[in-house]
Amino acid sequence: MNVAELIHSALAEGKTRFAFELLPPLKGDGMGGVFAAIDPLMEFDPAYINVTFHREGIKQTQRPDGSAEWHVVRRRPGTVGISAAIKARYGVETVPHLICGGLSRYDIEDALIDMDFLGLHNVLALRGDKSQNERRFMPHPQGHAHAADLVRQIAAMNRGEFVDGEVEICHHSKFSIGVAGYPEGHEESASPEADIAALKAKVDAGAEYVVTQLFYDNARFFDFVRRCREAGIGVPIIPGIKPLATLRHLTLLPETFGCSIPEPLRREVLAHRDDKAAVRRIGTEWAIAQSRELKAAGVPVLHYYPMGKAENIIEIARTVF
Ligand code: FAD
Repeated sequence: MNVAELIHSALAEGKTRFAFELLPPLKGDGMGGVFAAIDPLMEFDPAYINVTFHREGIKQTQRPDGSAEWHVVRRRPGTVGISAAIKARYGVETVPHLICGGLSRYDIEDALIDMDFLGLHNVLALRGDKSQNERRFMPHPQGHAHAADLVRQIAAMNRGEFVDGEVEICHHSKFSIGVAGYPEGHEESASPEADIAALKAKVDAGAEYVVTQLFYDNARFFDFVRRCREAGIGVPIIPGIKPLATLRHLTLLPETFGCSIPEPLRREVLAHRDDKAAVRRIGTEWAIAQSRELKAAGVPVLHYYPMGKAENIIEIARTVF
């Protein structure tokens, strides 16, 4: 079963499945760290495992005099390879992410052909963030400006239409395509309506389900689902959950992911600002409460973002699943 089928099967059975996403190893590292993160999570029978895609190689910071300083950042290549290794080792459907940023349509096609040959038939199609040295997202000259265009390319390939044209007699890939959604809006969107219209364009282009950006207020998710349905987006919408784990997350998470932190959560964290273990416990308990409410509302999958730290996800999964 591909991921879209797994989601529909969970819906038909009235179940909520566990799923999570992780990052490929840093360049030069082996696969041991990724497997060590996955091993304890297998107990919860994940419906699928996502693997993120990263393109950054340089980062800009400012010197005290205001001039720019460039740093080489250790990259995380290998999304397709590690996805195949995870699928082979655990037998779980694996979903490599694929982005538009920095890639031509030919690069994308080659990656998709590799994925198909490796038995990876799921993909999360994304635009990718702007590069650190860009003021706004700049597509590759032979690439795509929006995730909807990437979805169109993948859907076309499923029909046997390649970048250079149609191949009449060919092996047809059968990628199941997911896309990203933003309960609190995407930072570049002109309006909430434009954001939903952009999501609808991705679904109309062939996306079969949506995974959301992380959020801490379930009311925002429920409102997002309502607005999607009103706009004619009928595909399953999978909530993304990341437990807050440090005091710094109070500012870092909103800055990085554009999510808001509900006032009661902020107050409780600040009240325990000098106690790291207490802050972690508060974040975990909040994520448990969020997960329970979403499960009770009938979401087919809860998609967790461990970001390299599985301990709190294990605790949440033990309580919720
Ligand atoms: P799009 O759907 O293209 O939307 C981007 C912006 O453009 C939005 O503001 C949208 O409203 C607007 N827009 C879309 N179409 C049009 C149009 N036709 N005209 C005008 N405006 C338009 N990033 C990574 O680099 N690697 C990852 O692995 C990764 N994984 C992610 C997983 C999830 C679940 C989520 C939610 C995000 C992930 N991201 C990842 C981050 C993502 O790449 C960024 O949020 C990026 O800025 C937007 O990607 P998108 O696919 O939503 O883009």
